Amino acid sequence: MRVPLIAGNWKMNTTVSEAIELVNEMRRGLDEIDGADKVICPPFVSLAPVGELIKGSSIKLGAQNMHFEHKGAYTGEISPLMIADLCEFVIIGHSERRQYFNETGEIVNKKVRVALAVGLKPILCIGERLEENEAGRTEEVVTEQLRSSLAGIDFSDDLVMAYEPIWAIGTGKAATGEQANRTIGFIRYRVSQLFGESTAQEIRILYGGSVTAANTAEFMQQPEIDGALVGGASLKAAEFLSIVKQTSEIKSR
Ligand code: PEP
Repeated sequence: MRVPLIAGNWKMNTTVSEAIELVNEMRRGLDEIDGADKVICPPFVSLAPVGELIKGSSIKLGAQNMHFEHKGAYTGEISPLMIADLCEFVIIGHSERRQYFNETGEIVNKKVRVALAVGLKPILCIGERLEENEAGRTEEVVTEQLRSSLAGIDFSDDLVMAYEPIWAIGTGKAATGEQANRTIGFIRYRVSQLFGESTAQEIRILYGGSVTAANTAEFMQQPEIDGALVGGASLKAAEFLSIVKQTSEIKSR
């Protein structure tokens, strides 16, 4: 039985004081919801203050990225050890990192390896572009992303995956529940080929891309979808709470 997980990716939004305000708005309601892992991923500068505010609650903290080296002359970067000190989760390979910061499969692979090595739980993002989707290449693209991101990695329970079709991220144009379920089922099949069937049945695979309170039920009713990575809607306390609440209710039926 996979415990559903909802992660809120705040991206490059909220100043420290806005982050504190947002977490104060959602903290109590989120803490009260059972039956789902709840993760919030504020910007780096807010990790410590937000971490203090959720201490002792059931809400978990995640970072949005990290460097793959432990320390050194990498001006402006944040290391896995710094993240591990504050967070349980870290998003790796988000399509915005791949697109705007030239993160290759090789870099993503290094980050996943080091995250697991320092005890972080990576939320590994994969997904195809619109042209790839329209050309019927989704399965080929996610297979290649899986192969490169997970090369040389022994399966760990700590790994979470997120299928995020790029054309659905921040566009308001979500995949349908059925489309997402089909591709996530395919990803699970590929995971079974890499790590075996029992691992594939254990690993949590989320959907991400324009998830809102209005379409959450459509996704969560699908058997292969184990939760969501939520961007824009995670910045609105009431909407994020509704997404988490619906997920926990639907998945516990
Ligand atoms: C994301 O940031 O991973 C995401 C899915 O964003 P949005 O929900 O805004 O599409």
